Amino acid sequence: MYDYILIRSKRKTISIQINEKCEIVVRAPMKISKKEIDKTVNEEAYWIEKHMPEARRRMEQAEKITPELLHQLTQRAYMELPPIVERYAVLMGVEPTGIRITSARKRFGSCSGKNSLCFSCLLMLYPMEAVECVVVHELAHIRHHNHSAQCDAGLSQPRGAAEENAGSRQNVMAQRKMNMRILLTFS
Ligand SMILES: [Zn+2]
Repeated sequence: MYDYILIRSKRKTISIQINEKCEIVVRAPMKISKKEIDKTVNEEAYWIEKHMPEARRRMEQAEKITPELLHQLTQRAYMELPPIVERYAVLMGVEPTGIRITSARKRFGSCSGKNSLCFSCLLMLYPMEAVECVVVHELAHIRHHNHSAQCDAGLSQPRGAAEENAGSRQNVMAQRKMNMRILLTFS
């Protein structure tokens, strides 16, 4: 039996994620019983065991972030992110006014009112699919500066399966393609 953090909301299904502290976070509908949730978590044991090492690796990495590493990641981000932004901007028919790289630890991306995009260099520690998800999400904000259904519709490509609580900054992005659920905070 796993220990987990339970977050109940108006959702219809149960989702399980591993957060940046390697805690198991379970989101569940209001009415479902604790027993049922326990059962679902147990059924996901294979997935949990498969992905926990990667989560641990990321956590250890996060603990080891030195100024030198931040510098390297920032350089990589400046080299690698603009072409990705460019590629998706063309596909989505939007035009960002600029790209800025920060070393924010809690927020991986944002889009300003003037359509300038901001990305954390720490994004470079994540798989390319996750990087692309954040890029597409921020580009979608050029059309919709909120988390409306229309904004969601703009995220059809690598769309997060569990992007609920979308109005808050604690967005959860599920990466279906790699069957790897990654917690990224962005807005
Ligand atoms: Zn957003």
